[in-house]
Amino acid sequence: MEKKINIVWFKKDLRLIDHLPLFFATEESLPCLLLFCFEPKIKASPSWNIRHWQFMFQSLQIMNNELAKWNHKIYIFYENATSVFQKLSTIYEIKTIFSHQETGIAETYETDKYLASFFKNQGIEWREFQTNGIIRSLKNRDNWEVLWKQVMQKPIYGINFSKLKTIKLSKQNKIAFNQNFDLLHEIKLLPKQFQQAGTKTGYLYLNSFLKKRVKLYMQHVSIAQKSRSSCSRISPYLTYGNLSMRMVYQQKEIFKNDVPFKRNINAFASRLYWHCHFIQKFEMQEKMQFQNLNAAFNKVRTEINHNFLNAWKNGKTGYPLVDASMRCVKNTGYINFRSRAMLVSFLCHHLWQPWQAGADFLAQQFLDFEPGIHYPQFQMQASTTGINTIRVYNPEKQALTKDSDAIFIKKWLPELTKLPDQYALLPYKMTSLEEGFYNFKLGKDYPKPIVPLSSAKKGNLKLLWEIKRSTFAKKNNKEILARHVSKNRKRT
Ligand SMILES: Cc1cc2nc3c(=O)[nH]c(=O)nc-3n(C[C@H](O)[C@H](O)[C@H](O)COP(=O)(O)OP(=O)(O)OC[C@H]3O[C@@H](n4cnc5c(N)ncnc54)[C@H](O)[C@@H]3O)c2cc1C
Repeated sequence: MEKKINIVWFKKDLRLIDHLPLFFATEESLPCLLLFCFEPKIKASPSWNIRHWQFMFQSLQIMNNELAKWNHKIYIFYENATSVFQKLSTIYEIKTIFSHQETGIAETYETDKYLASFFKNQGIEWREFQTNGIIRSLKNRDNWEVLWKQVMQKPIYGINFSKLKTIKLSKQNKIAFNQNFDLLHEIKLLPKQFQQAGTKTGYLYLNSFLKKRVKLYMQHVSIAQKSRSSCSRISPYLTYGNLSMRMVYQQKEIFKNDVPFKRNINAFASRLYWHCHFIQKFEMQEKMQFQNLNAAFNKVRTEINHNFLNAWKNGKTGYPLVDASMRCVKNTGYINFRSRAMLVSFLCHHLWQPWQAGADFLAQQFLDFEPGIHYPQFQMQASTTGINTIRVYNPEKQALTKDSDAIFIKKWLPELTKLPDQYALLPYKMTSLEEGFYNFKLGKDYPKPIVPLSSAKKGNLKLLWEIKRSTFAKKNNKEILARHVSKNRKRT
């Protein structure tokens, strides 16, 4: 066996500052191996998309360029982490693994549980550090807000790279690991229509937002086209850890007093808190990835209509704002909160499909896919939490108020560009005479509405409210509130 080493295991924490595992590994006398794993088991999971890995790969490339200045390197493995660590433990005597805790999908949770027991059996210490103030094994949220703020206000950890000692994997040792990675070329190219990766780019988005773009934040946050430049767009940098939440929080504090847009900065600050609040919820109830938070809703929406589902996935429901939102997110990896909520509402309230039928599909499209936000938000919009109000977004009203000049719709639905704005918004309102004027045929050039708008109103909504008011749902709500809401908030 070769020499004694430590390991820094990078996960979705792809940055070189404010990185506690790296900071504490630097303090050790033993040299360390820096590594990251692109895992086949994640690639096989239903929420996976190459765009997620392209963003991570670009992040790692940028980090390695920086590390090369000190002759360090993060080794990238294309193999399941369990197998990588098993093999490494036969080559090296491993003392300590340094990593961040991850609130991930079922597959990463399984890996972590397996490795915790593997490391224990091997006598390897695993030092896991908190991610963004999320607390492991928490029973309730009574003091959580205070603790979260304390974490956000702690100093940012700088790493002394000249002090860090790293090891190089020899050619002979490299051979032990998978050499055939089928995505080797594809993963290297993050298409230009997606936000580009890296801490520096993350800061560019954040600073340009705090200095200027924040001015129109609340005015535009719910408008699909304008939100693209008026929202911060920092979500992928948080998801993959190019920025820690503390870095964002403290940057916001610097600008908070400078700008005349206090209300908007406060709204942004609330969302930073929500980010972690949702992830903490998922951390404490990971089954939300698959099961209704409130089991009272298990009896409804049990069957999938594949025609409906495919129309929704392909942006061909006959409702222009729904279809434009879907085509936009598939193409660019980003869509604003309101459009995400509307897509889920349409799937679950109008098409009456189980949220589980669409959650992984949208996760694939989102460049910023963050399981801890995604699944709880999906359930909130699908009305399966019991503790939130049932909210149905009317796609017609949304189109008229949020895209009244049809700019967004015409950008993503080229088949509607030849129509006057009012018909691009609602093509199904045209008479056959008007269709003739514009040389347009509903049902041929663009689909007829797949269901009437009233479908969400009739029996469906009534049924959801009945369930929400049932004794069983209320009993479940008590447990949900006890676990996920602090005493203070329960009181208010
Ligand atoms: C069904 C559904 C799924 C979602 N899935 C994800 C996801 O996978 N990843 C993700 O980061 N966000 C998700 N969101 C939340 C939200 O839509 C995005 O965070 C936001 O649109 C990202 O754009 P931004 O960075 O410009 O946000 P800004 O409005 O500038 O907000 C700043 C940051 O605050 C956080 N944030 C904003 N809104 C929310 C919110 N409602 N809940 C929790 N955190 C929030 C995000 O980290 C965001 O980057 C989802 C929302 C819905 C309705």
